[in-house]
Amino acid sequence: MPTRNKITIAIDGYSGTGKSSTAKAVASKLGYIYVDSGAMYRAVTLHFLKNEIDLNDKTQVLNALENIQIDFSYNKDLARYETCLNENNVEESIRGMEVSNYVSAVSAIKAVRDAMIAIQRKLGEAKGVVMDGRDIGTVVFPNADLKFFLTADTKIRAERRQMELKESGNEVSLTDIIKNLEDRDKVDSSREISPLRRAEDAIEIDTTGLSFADQVGLIIDKANETINV
Ligand code: C5P
Repeated sequence: MPTRNKITIAIDGYSGTGKSSTAKAVASKLGYIYVDSGAMYRAVTLHFLKNEIDLNDKTQVLNALENIQIDFSYNKDLARYETCLNENNVEESIRGMEVSNYVSAVSAIKAVRDAMIAIQRKLGEAKGVVMDGRDIGTVVFPNADLKFFLTADTKIRAERRQMELKESGNEVSLTDIIKNLEDRDKVDSSREISPLRRAEDAIEIDTTGLSFADQVGLIIDKANETINV
């Protein structure tokens, strides 16, 4: 009888490659915790926008970070975890274009990353976690048991993002979405701290021609191989 040890799974990759939905489905199949690290950076961004924090003012940034509490609460009706900022549910507002256009600048700030990484490591302490983001396999959990790096064609990524936005009542043109994805990829990959890059030991998956079920299946198969040792 094989032992079922709990593992840590890191899923990184470009914006709109389906990381979050894949990670969520994988966590649910394994009975693991799912952590959407991008949602955390989005929540910080929303707070900074609301409070008109000057990103170049270190004191303002540090003070603002001290006043931020980020949690995830389970919505039974929608069967999903939703992001809460200072006890307010912000799941919808963090997905809008205003936050999307500003989030890469906020997440390039060292103090912001330090604060988020500390929370992420705490959430993953007990293993049995699937976390998705940009630096999970490289910085947050460099010793993760399994690492994946997701890629996909830009047009496919933009169409997927457009569909998600439409489902939450936001009509955004494909041109605007493509510009946002390309801008974020550029800033995320070229920033000095924790740039987006594939960890050497990450398994790369090009999701362009894959169905959602195939994408999840690939990761589950690898996870089962790792767990059943
Ligand atoms: O995953 P999502 O697209 O929602 O992430 C939003 C933004 O948050 C990314 O474009 C990136 O700037 C930032 N992010 C990050 N590190 C992570 C997760 C997200 O810098 N681990």
